Amino acid sequence: MEKGHLSRTPYQKPFSYIVFLNTFSKWYHFLQKSQYWTKDQIEEYQTKKVKELIVHSTSNVPYYRRLFDSYSIKPYHINKPSDITKIPCITREEIKYNRPTLKAENYPNDAFKKTMTGGTTGSPLELYVEHARWLGVHFAFNKIYMVRAGYHWTNKVISFTGITKKHIHHPILRTLEMSSFHTLKKDFDEYYEKIIRFKPSFITSYPSSLTLFTQYLNNSQKPFPLIHAIFLHGETIFDWQRNLLENYYDCPVFDQYGHRERCVFATTCERSNKYHVFPEYGLMEIIDKSGNPVTRKGEQGEIVATGFTNKVFPLIRYKTGDIAVVGEEHCECGRHYPLLEKIIGRTQEYLITQDHERIPATGLYHVIAEHAHHVKECQLYQETEGDIIIYVVKEAGFSENDEKHILKGFKDRFKDSFSLTLRYVPSIERTKQGKYRYVIQKIPYTPL
Ligand SMILES: [Zn+2]
Repeated sequence: MEKGHLSRTPYQKPFSYIVFLNTFSKWYHFLQKSQYWTKDQIEEYQTKKVKELIVHSTSNVPYYRRLFDSYSIKPYHINKPSDITKIPCITREEIKYNRPTLKAENYPNDAFKKTMTGGTTGSPLELYVEHARWLGVHFAFNKIYMVRAGYHWTNKVISFTGITKKHIHHPILRTLEMSSFHTLKKDFDEYYEKIIRFKPSFITSYPSSLTLFTQYLNNSQKPFPLIHAIFLHGETIFDWQRNLLENYYDCPVFDQYGHRERCVFATTCERSNKYHVFPEYGLMEIIDKSGNPVTRKGEQGEIVATGFTNKVFPLIRYKTGDIAVVGEEHCECGRHYPLLEKIIGRTQEYLITQDHERIPATGLYHVIAEHAHHVKECQLYQETEGDIIIYVVKEAGFSENDEKHILKGFKDRFKDSFSLTLRYVPSIERTKQGKYRYVIQKIPYTPL
């Protein structure tokens, strides 16, 4: 068996700043050029990466060695990226039960850093990334994306994420982080004072936290520094949130899509709100219920992804459970990346009707946003088909009328598909990462 250069990876210490900086620098310079590659160049690169992945996995990853053996798959079978479909997909459950044999044997134990994916039902999925190197890759992709909005490392950034401390100032990174766990008015008063002194130019945030903070600014009529761009991540963004943020800050709002599984990374660009899938990060496919490719604009299917950046725990044709709509062929920005019109639903962001139909929760959530004007936050909860509990955090001014509007809005839109119960709660609990989940789906997930 031919040994690819991927299998000769030298030993890495658990965390080395040198490895981190070298990886970041190598990837960032590479992405500066590759982002304007032609379609042919992208295809050539992806073909090479898939071949390398098969060589590496055959030599070093027991799970894939057995799988390729039973399907008689060899690197020379790959002559174009779509030849990867000869390999069967891997599901979340298969990863869970085969985790030890998915670890690459040519790495020492301390090269592996454990990472957990968020799971909305059942237990979270445990995965591995390569110490230090994963962070360099992550920073490089994030930087190339932020530079599209005019970001420079000397600019100051505020960020709302799931930190446990209330706020942290990183002078070297020129970043002021604030916690998405603390969103009461008194917390926002404190954040506001800090932000005014800090004078940021950019914001990165979970959509839910920044929405709450912006509603607070709107209500209190406080002036705010000029912001050049907003970068959202971590949660689905709704159109009404995008509109609120674009109007209030009068700047572009960028969004990204990705996973802890690190197989796919897509972001919007300076010219469009469509998701541009980085072909350097991995190979993305969209498939229908029977596993056939979905390629026509406007059609939807499940995202299946093969990561090129994580050699210690490679995932080939991972079924993400996320549903997306195929986008246009081209974007005015000049990048020839595959485009997704939108990401409709992430795993478990569906609700099931009495007739066993699956409806994206975004649609239901939108009805609440449209029909309730004094709702601070809410969350949809389902454990039985056709039954939904809506947990509502009231805002000052909430009245019986708001409740009637929500119920009527649902009835008009969904007829008798669901029976609704409203429950009032003081707050919506965040996940361990501090993210807000707008739907808790307890009915076990069955892939499309
Ligand atoms: Zn573009």
